This record gives sequence, C-alpha cells and structure tokens, in this order.
Amino acid sequence: MSTRRQFLKTLPIAVATSLAAVAAPSGAGAATLDEKDPQAVKLDYKADTRKVDQAKFPRHAASQTCANCQLFQEGASPSTGSCVLFGDKQVAAAGWCSAWEQG
Ligand code: SF4
Repeated sequence: MSTRRQFLKTLPIAVATSLAAVAAPSGAGAATLDEKDPQAVKLDYKADTRKVDQAKFPRHAASQTCANCQLFQEGASPSTGSCVLFGDKQVAAAGWCSAWEQG
C-alpha cells in the first residue's frame, strides 16, 4: 500500500517535470558550436559565412547561410539554431559549412 501512496505523491512532480521539458524552447542552454570542433573542422564550418575561403569553395555565395539551409532549425534565439549535423550544439544563423543545401 505504501508503494501506491508514494507513487501517487510523486505523480504530480513527474507530470510537471515532463510538461516543463516539452515547453522549454528548443536550443535553450545548448552549447554554441566552435569552429575548432573536430566535426566543424571536417565540414569547414564558419560562424560567419563572409569568412568562408572563397578559393577553396568557389560555389559558395555570401547569401548562403545556416538560416537558409535545409538542415537548419530555428532556435530560441534569432541568431542561432540547431543543425542535424551537429547534434545538440547551436550553429550561427549567419554561419555556413560545406554541407549547405538550399532550404
Ligand atoms: S548543414 Fe546547413 S545549417 Fe548545418 S552547419 Fe552547414 S550550413 Fe549550417
């Protein structure tokens, strides 16, 4: 019986915790991707698309940014968002990497 009573006491806390997790804005508190991150280096990620090496990526255009990439998902802040290639790290909306795809 005491097990059932304990369960009923903790139920509201569990429900409130779950609702808080669902209501939290995407990317809140997530780390920002560093250009020196090994995965970022592999994909030549730059937090500022204007700093991309144009000689290395002749098809790159300054208008190409994470914000208009197919793999970008807006976050809580207008300046960052998430990218499926970088897990829970936030990329800069003004950034770019060699995997950029027109969104
Ligand atoms: S795949 Fe797109 S959103 Fe992700 S880092 Fe590269 S350019 Fe930005």
